[in-house]
Amino acid sequence: MSTLELNYQNVLQRLQLACSQNNRPAQSVRLLAVSKTKPAAMVEAVYALGQRSFGENYLQDGMDKITALSHLTDIEWHFIGPLQSNKTRPVAEHFQWVETVDRDKIARRLSEQRPATLPALNVLVQVNISAEEQKAGVLPAQAHALCTLVSELPNLCLRGLMCIPEATDNEERLRTQLEAMQALYQQLAAEFPAMDTLSMGMSGDLELAIACGSSEIRIGTDIFGARDYPANN
Ligand SMILES: *Cc1c(COP(=O)(O)O)cnc(C)c1O
Repeated sequence: MSTLELNYQNVLQRLQLACSQNNRPAQSVRLLAVSKTKPAAMVEAVYALGQRSFGENYLQDGMDKITALSHLTDIEWHFIGPLQSNKTRPVAEHFQWVETVDRDKIARRLSEQRPATLPALNVLVQVNISAEEQKAGVLPAQAHALCTLVSELPNLCLRGLMCIPEATDNEERLRTQLEAMQALYQQLAAEFPAMDTLSMGMSGDLELAIACGSSEIRIGTDIFGARDYPANN
């Protein structure tokens, strides 16, 4: 088995174990393979193992892979990076999901630019659950207003919430944030029936995220190995 395959099977096992420890079916958590900065050949190798959903942070890097792998017709691309309003068009045209919508202007542009020939673009509203100053995402108190807008825009489908909690070794702090996110998600999902996705959990905290109700974990390093340049620009 290749290192890539070993890594991938190991992540799947961690996902399954965390689900069973929390009495959740393994199918209740989607694995998003975060392939940012990694070559198309590695994406294709993981696809060959059965993986279909891939996450990209950087627009050009992602677009290069979408183009190179256009023969994989059932692959699903999620944009998970910071999104500037002048860069929304390629995302609206080439991705199936955007997980980092955090303001009205971005939501409106994505809806306007989504081609009529494609299904609605799946959207997660990014929440700054740790309320850190320079961090992307709406504050929890603003999430309802943005979810309302996204749910009303014609070419978007509001699928749920996403967060990147504080980078901390303090498990209690982390748990507090993930639980706050779960509570916010449950409250909003009761009002917006298309919501089915709570995206939280990365290589270091997937078990805790699944214990706190995550339905999508975003795993880069533990599948593809360390990256040469930083995770977030
Ligand atoms: C890079 C990244 C990930 C994956 O992080 P790893 O620690 O490498 O698993 C998940 N989510 C977002 C938004 C990222 O930018």
